[in-house]
Amino acid sequence: MMQRITQAVRGAALSDFVGAFGLAMRYMLKPKATVMYPHERNPQSPRFRGEHVLRRYPNGEERCIACKLCEAICPAQAITIEAEPREDGSRRTTRYDIDMVKCIYCGLCQEACPVDAIVEGPNIEFAVETREELYYDKERLLENGDRWEREIAKNLELDAAYR
Ligand code: SF4
Ligand code: SF4
Repeated sequence: MMQRITQAVRGAALSDFVGAFGLAMRYMLKPKATVMYPHERNPQSPRFRGEHVLRRYPNGEERCIACKLCEAICPAQAITIEAEPREDGSRRTTRYDIDMVKCIYCGLCQEACPVDAIVEGPNIEFAVETREELYYDKERLLENGDRWEREIAKNLELDAAYR
């Protein structure tokens, strides 16, 4: 009786081994699913929602008209805006902060903006060491916009037909 059980266990182990070996061989010949980040990267959708930016027009003027729609729609209450009219009567923000710790990257601020000023850009590499560094102010957001404008403009153009 004991001998039969031992033989059955050995048979099952051998069959498991053959199955696992066959599986390993099959996957060895398939293209690898993993990529060697950061040297390799997966393709990114034009709709990808990464780090926020504030954009300017080509003449350097800020796009944001301080309508505060993004602040109102933000479900995480991560955006704080203060605004004043300029001497020429145009309305611009004097303060535009995003608490990136609160942000849930839902994209609603971007969707609400009538002038494509606040956008979640393609950047995913903005890890920091302190919480304070994740409080973005207007200057930081505009700098991000200047840095990523080319990629963002191209992504918005690619996505325009679906918006
Ligand atoms: S992505 Fe969503 S949570 Fe983040 S700031 Fe915009 S609206 Fe708020
Ligand atoms: S970023 Fe857009 S939605 Fe937000 S205040 Fe400026 S213009 Fe309005």
